[in-house]
Amino acid sequence: MMLTVDLGLCQGHQECLAEAPELFDFDHDSYQVVVRITEPFEEQLPAARAAVKYCPAFALTLED
Ligand code: SF4
Repeated sequence: MMLTVDLGLCQGHQECLAEAPELFDFDHDSYQVVVRITEPFEEQLPAARAAVKYCPAFALTLED
């Protein structure tokens, strides 16, 4: 599964970091998220799915 962010949509809410801090970093200059782990391990998928679900901007995608 690939975890990606659409930076055209990311508004810097950081809900994703709250849900899955191990998967993301935050760029304070651009005020946008950075995906640290683009191919999460199986055990990281629940957190990745939660990040996708709770992103208010619908900026995250998790797909094959
Ligand atoms: S929750 Fe969504 S909008 Fe906010 S920083 Fe994460 S990806 Fe960007």
